[in-house]
Amino acid sequence: MPAPLMATMSSPELPREADVVVIGGGIVGTCAAYFLARRGMSVALVEKGRIGAEQSSRNWGWCRQQNRDGRELPMATRSLALWEDISADIGEDLGFRRCGLLYLSDDEAEIDGWRRWRDFAATQGVTTHMLSAAEAAERGAATAKPWKGGVFSPTDGIADPSRAAPLIALGVRKHGGSVHQFCAARGIGLQAGAVASVVTERGTIHTKQVVMAGGAWASTFCRQLGISFPQSAVRSSILSLMPGANELPPALHTAGISVTLRGDGGHTLAVSGMANVDPTPQTFRYAADFLPMFARRWRILSPGDLQGWLAGHESRRKWALDRPTPMERTRILDPRPSARIVDLTLARARRLLPALSTLPVQATWAGYIDSTPDGIPVIDPSAGPRGFLLAAGFSGHGFGIGPGAGELVADLVTGKEPSVEYKQYALSRLRRGAWGKVSDF
Ligand SMILES: Cc1cc2nc3c(=O)[nH]c(=O)nc-3n(C[C@H](O)[C@H](O)[C@H](O)COP(=O)(O)OP(=O)(O)OC[C@H]3O[C@@H](n4cnc5c(N)ncnc54)[C@H](O)[C@@H]3O)c2cc1C
Repeated sequence: MPAPLMATMSSPELPREADVVVIGGGIVGTCAAYFLARRGMSVALVEKGRIGAEQSSRNWGWCRQQNRDGRELPMATRSLALWEDISADIGEDLGFRRCGLLYLSDDEAEIDGWRRWRDFAATQGVTTHMLSAAEAAERGAATAKPWKGGVFSPTDGIADPSRAAPLIALGVRKHGGSVHQFCAARGIGLQAGAVASVVTERGTIHTKQVVMAGGAWASTFCRQLGISFPQSAVRSSILSLMPGANELPPALHTAGISVTLRGDGGHTLAVSGMANVDPTPQTFRYAADFLPMFARRWRILSPGDLQGWLAGHESRRKWALDRPTPMERTRILDPRPSARIVDLTLARARRLLPALSTLPVQATWAGYIDSTPDGIPVIDPSAGPRGFLLAAGFSGHGFGIGPGAGELVADLVTGKEPSVEYKQYALSRLRRGAWGKVSDF
């Protein structure tokens, strides 16, 4: 069974023109479309499959500042406030709550790292509490083992990946925007070097402004416009258990296993960072760009298989706009999970948390996590032709910071002074090389 996902309605007709066309109905695209529509722009959101069906429904749901890279922390903080703001505005429960995130460890070096981050975060106005062994034992009582220490970030939280993007798409419509599922954008029409239209499989929308929020497909799409965007995806395999364990911390991270309460009362289980690298033409194209990240993370990566190559999201092919593209062939990237990782994850979770030992598996799935070479997204209005804004490469952090990213996109499109610094998200930084600047998780 794939990751659970709520259905949302499409608008009846594709508009002939719009102030902005947003390509990609993940959390980033839906939030961008939502804030643009809320500001009175006419917005069309086009999604080749279903809203939220790729990464944005397959993640753990963590919305965190804890351990964030300094380049992303202000957006993470802003996003937490926006999760609350969007829920209130659209009157829907996105499953967001500031339940706090609990990290437990037996590794002094890891605990020291958290302490250093705590000191840095304090300079940014973010509070996080180091836990002594006694405090870790108390907060981690469900694990039935002692810990050397931990950290608790009280203002962080979780939202529900199975509902968030579909409900925010409802918010787009509420503010007058339109939402089009099973509607792949095949390419961009240019006039005098500027965006003039978006060609979709259902017809052309005339517009001067496009937001490309295509997640793992973004680099391939950019290549059609002659834009080089170093991007690569790894396959992460996870599972959920049926409801029944009521005494666990809502969001718990340990080196061996992470456990998150789901909106339906079940739990998502995952091993942080562990993933498969499925080789694709794009993997080879950008191999040199990703060497610093690989050098840092190779221990948790395993070779994968050819399913990524076959899916076509990292193809190097150019396609024509008047016939079906790889995006229509692979409506939803739904890779097979690694049975080895799923079994290992389940065994570790049941060993650590006795409350989970008898609960049946609800679903197993995998998702391609798209990343940039330095682990920081690209949000750039100058990445391509005039009127083309790229917002992708969220590197495993995009769900939590989706609202902040969407607001920033709306600021950049409408010319409003952004509430967060954004120069660090420019595509050009990756052209210069990002050696030595790979983010932590
Ligand atoms: C297993 C896993 C765990 C994770 N855990 C967390 C977490 O706890 N917290 C966190 O913050 N992040 C987490 N992430 C990362 C997070 O899910 C992503 O960073 C985020 O969802 C990316 O959102 P997005 O909108 O950029 O991309 P996506 O959600 O992938 O959406 C992109 C959409 O664009 C569509 N599209 C692409 N090209 C076109 C086109 N040409 N025309 C029309 N539509 C198109 C696709 O169909 C897709 O729906 C996790 C990811 C995974 C896989």
